Amino acid sequence: MIPTLIGDRMKNYIGGTWMEAKTERYEDIPNPATGELLAKVPLSSKEDVDAAVQAAKAAFPAWSQTPVVDRARIMFRFQQLLFQHQDELARMITLENGKNLAEAQAELLRAIEMAEFAAGMPTLLMGESLPNIARDIDSEVRRFPLGVVAGITPFNFPLMVPMWMYPIAITAGNTFVLKPSERTPLSSIRAAELLKEAGLPDGVFNVVNGAHDVVNGLLEHPDVKAVSFVGSQPVAEYIYRTAAANGKRVQALAGAKNHHLVMPDTDLRRAAKTIVSSAFGCAGERCMAASVVVAVDSIADELIQYLIEESDALKMGNGLEAGVDLGPVIRPAHLEKVHDYIERGVDAGASLVRDGRKDALQHRQGYFLGPTIFDQATPEMVIVRDEIFAPVLSVVRVAGFEEGLEAISKSRYGNGACIYTGSGRLGREFVQRVEAGMVGVNVGVPAPMGFFAFSGWKQSFYGDLHANGKDGVEFFTKKKTVTSRWFDDGEMNIGSQKTFVK
Ligand code: NAD
Repeated sequence: MIPTLIGDRMKNYIGGTWMEAKTERYEDIPNPATGELLAKVPLSSKEDVDAAVQAAKAAFPAWSQTPVVDRARIMFRFQQLLFQHQDELARMITLENGKNLAEAQAELLRAIEMAEFAAGMPTLLMGESLPNIARDIDSEVRRFPLGVVAGITPFNFPLMVPMWMYPIAITAGNTFVLKPSERTPLSSIRAAELLKEAGLPDGVFNVVNGAHDVVNGLLEHPDVKAVSFVGSQPVAEYIYRTAAANGKRVQALAGAKNHHLVMPDTDLRRAAKTIVSSAFGCAGERCMAASVVVAVDSIADELIQYLIEESDALKMGNGLEAGVDLGPVIRPAHLEKVHDYIERGVDAGASLVRDGRKDALQHRQGYFLGPTIFDQATPEMVIVRDEIFAPVLSVVRVAGFEEGLEAISKSRYGNGACIYTGSGRLGREFVQRVEAGMVGVNVGVPAPMGFFAFSGWKQSFYGDLHANGKDGVEFFTKKKTVTSRWFDDGEMNIGSQKTFVK
């Protein structure tokens, strides 16, 4: 039972209170494993956005003046509460997203990592100084929060992706408005409640539920200073252009098509295990999921055999049940789109060596697709070009390393890329030359820990400062450079040309 519902209708969290949205439009949130209704999410209006931004604006002066050490202590308490409510939070993630409980626990740990990183804000916010840059003149750089900032997030990591944004943003002194995915908005409700319990003042963190109208309301609002977005490529591009046109700072993390190059000098069984876990974990709905295997032809048959065997061993079902490996995809409409991609792959001439649609036949409820594998795919085919975001893996065969790199470079995406090799020399060459921002060497999901930037390239990212790590701190702060000079009589002049000349 979620306490902040009216009947089954969700509310918004504005200025520390739960408020009914000013809309009559609500969307159902089904459990993707059963189709059962969990709640109804409001498609809030621009009026709701304005109320949240006003609450955040009102909270900003006091919050930004609160010593950073005190702000960081709230993050420490929040981190403790997340651990305390670990089981309940993981269950909620599984209910609304469909991933299994172990995957939900893993998501929670990655989210907690962000609270831990943000708790180091007193160190992260330190500026720079250089005394005596000219005679009796000192220079220093100080960091300041931006004001009201906004986050817009996708369905696939309902707790973690929002936490790529608000722990850093608020601990750096900003106030925040979150627009969670309308498909998975429940986890953010608990996050808001726990932040309050941790002592966060009202208005510092706000949640407005909804879809396009809320997004556009945030993008157009003159009091929103920065927008952090994570989601699909076309929406990321739209957010980047619109936010920039409205004079806002923006980072937009987008879609992906992650290629994994398998060399003959690797343990093929081990590589297959790692790839299957990357491709089909979280039902392939991870922006770092393996979606294309680039296999050197001499080992491709053997590798595909192992990929099929490892996939056959996965148990599909409701993620709340013990032993389930593969949960459902998010919605029936998404499943339909994925089926269409499978048909298009077959029509284009790829060879469907494992058809996950057959596994789904035993599930009458829920939106299931078993591991699906294509052989003989090419970089020109739509199943290799487009992000499918489901348990569908395509194998492209190449003659060797150089042709493999070339196949990878044809992708318009550059989120992640991996190599499986026993050769340090090839691994190094791959890291240096591959056109992707996050690289794995014998690692299947090279998602950086929160202390590093989440650094997609090409059409997987729009902006300059990435999310997380030092980039995240940089994104949510602005710098002031101070040049000062004090005279013997105690008077200070700042920056005037006259005072610089002896
Ligand atoms: P999505 O783009 O459909 O939705 C993301 C957010 O944008 C949601 O809050 C949604 O309400 C909003 N939105 C959607 N369409 C909009 C429109 N036309 N105008 C304004 N707002 C709109 O993405 P999704 O399906 O929820 O999430 C999956 C996508 O997110 C995948 O493409 C995945 O690769 C990507 N993703 C990327 C990263 C990364 O780090 N690069 C991480 C996680 C997910």
